[in-house]
Amino acid sequence: MKNDVNPGVDPYDQIELWVSGKSVHDSKGICCPDYSCCYPEFKADADVRERFMRAINTADFGTVNLMVENFNIRKAISEGVNLMYMFERTIH
Ligand SMILES: [Zn+2]
Repeated sequence: MKNDVNPGVDPYDQIELWVSGKSVHDSKGICCPDYSCCYPEFKADADVRERFMRAINTADFGTVNLMVENFNIRKAISEGVNLMYMFERTIH
């Protein structure tokens, strides 16, 4: 399934909209960090979204990466991905 695109929504606009509660794809059809555009049940709490925005604004990419990883793992679990396999692939 191809995501819908939102012309004029650059990745930063997308994060701002997401923090304000509106989950949309960006101009290239990329999902929100927590995939809540496609899976509303995954929507991160407001304080988590605000923390993500703060990390981006302060160039705290360690935090950004950790949060992205958490969102990805949560989505993978819901899809029944074998996480041990994922971690083994990461380690080796
Ligand atoms: Zn999406």
